[in-house]
Amino acid sequence: MLEDILLQVNKPARYIGQEWNIAKKDFNQAKIKFALCFPDLYEVGMSNLGLRIIYNLLNNIEDVTCERVFAPDLDMERHLRNSGQEIFSLESRHRLQEFDFLGFSLSFELDYTNVLNILDLGKLPLKASLRNQAYPLVIGGGACVMNPEPIAEFFDFFVIGEAEEVILEIIDIYRKYRKHFRSGQMSKEDLLKEFLSIEGIYVPIFYEPIYTPEGKLLDFKPKIKEAPLKIKKRFIRNLNDTYFLQQWLVPYISIVHDRISLEIMRGCPHACRFCQARIQYFPFRQRDLDKILNLAKETYRNTGYEEISLTGLSVSDYIYLKELLKILISFFKEKGISVSLPSLKVDILLSDLFPLITAVKKTGLTFAPEAGSERLRKIINKYFNVEEFFKIIEKAYQLGYQHLKLYFMIGLPFERKDDLEAIIDFATAVAQARRKVNAKTGQVHLSINTLIPKPHTPFQWLKMQDLDEIKYKQDYIRKKVSGKKYLKLSFHNCYMSFLEAVLSRADRRLSEVIISAFYKGSRFDAWENYFRFSLWEEAFSQVKIDPAFYLKEKAPDEYLPWDFLDWGIDKQTLLAEFNKAIAIK
Ligand code: SF4
Repeated sequence: MLEDILLQVNKPARYIGQEWNIAKKDFNQAKIKFALCFPDLYEVGMSNLGLRIIYNLLNNIEDVTCERVFAPDLDMERHLRNSGQEIFSLESRHRLQEFDFLGFSLSFELDYTNVLNILDLGKLPLKASLRNQAYPLVIGGGACVMNPEPIAEFFDFFVIGEAEEVILEIIDIYRKYRKHFRSGQMSKEDLLKEFLSIEGIYVPIFYEPIYTPEGKLLDFKPKIKEAPLKIKKRFIRNLNDTYFLQQWLVPYISIVHDRISLEIMRGCPHACRFCQARIQYFPFRQRDLDKILNLAKETYRNTGYEEISLTGLSVSDYIYLKELLKILISFFKEKGISVSLPSLKVDILLSDLFPLITAVKKTGLTFAPEAGSERLRKIINKYFNVEEFFKIIEKAYQLGYQHLKLYFMIGLPFERKDDLEAIIDFATAVAQARRKVNAKTGQVHLSINTLIPKPHTPFQWLKMQDLDEIKYKQDYIRKKVSGKKYLKLSFHNCYMSFLEAVLSRADRRLSEVIISAFYKGSRFDAWENYFRFSLWEEAFSQVKIDPAFYLKEKAPDEYLPWDFLDWGIDKQTLLAEFNKAIAIK
């Protein structure tokens, strides 16, 4: 039956597994069975470095098997539902209910209905409270757990921080109590209590939110003495001591990042006030040069990939970047392997790197000035020397780069009309800088996102701009750019930003809205061609929750739904940063 289905769906390779370097474990022999679930398509999930690390880490444990499950595309879901089949793991094609754990990698809030879809296709009740010992434990980790409250009802527990630091402790506790738990001698609640002994574990059933009569969150209390008042994030202290991923799975179809990703650093030494990724990966850590080189050679040998990409939040800050590029290029050049860098931060040091970058791969260059005016850049704490920046741009044109992409944001605090115009002026100046080099105007792609004031950032107290304001600003910029052929303009869908903001800032009450949107057919909300805002509008109205409630400005002394989590930077420090931004306005 499965083969029949595979013949009818788009890209069947998404569902067959069998890739090069796949883990070969005997499902029935393994004592602990872990399904690593990614709530987006195979091509996206397989590009996730964290997923690959946990997959290999778990499969290296003798009595554990880890298999992958990705969100099925709509055609596959239809076939599974019509034929009454359940979703299955890629490695051994087992049903989800046969696993001990379903571990979700949660990178993006707009994937939440896909999480529910995977549970539903596995015939698991959506809410954790409805799943007894017969079901796998459903756990989650990743960027979204910076505020896990909107999805707290669906999960048994969350890992706060870097999962590779914690996952073996989770396995050890489960191994100790597995027989008792599965035989019914130990309740699920008692097992979950045992997991509380691990720092960085958040078990939602042991906490109670308390609301004011007006619906504001007043407090968030542990219900049992074992549950910590504040949950501290876990992280790898030294990137050189951590697990090194060398058995790199090579898919049969092309994926979003179809190359070796070499993680050279975690965290970022800068402190842009809107940036949640910096807090998620805090503190800033760098991997030693020799470790990276060994990793590069070994991974290349195991895969045969023809491209290596250096990854990290801000790779231009890697202390040995020049040396690393030099060595990698000299080693891989004759093998025909290219080395690429992700988008580059505006940084004068980079001018030294240009000759190296061109020796590697002449793709377009991407920069993220984020704001057009100096005043707004100060407010968001994104500093760079504009004069030096334009010198770099000229150098890029001289070296033959033709396509430049610039990322900006609108909806920034204290933004005025002249700040919007400054975006266009900045991009125009970048395009015209080419005239100094070869008398032609350059082509600049202007990509404009909307600021989402995310949890645990200094901007978490800000109001998210409402849809009308965002649409007005987008139209304003559109009109100003009209007729400027050297500028290509694209905006992130403002309805998607609006929903992402609600899903990232809400509390536990939002779970009913997510369930409602799921049953109405919402899937793949992160994909513009699948996203249907009307389903969410219906869901909000059905559950009688006003989404705008979660986007309001917050008072500094207000209890926030994510305040019980300690991601490494305390609220006072964030508030001090917020006040610095206000002082600039
Ligand atoms: S936006 Fe980039 S440079 Fe700024 S803190 Fe975040 S990762 Fe670092």
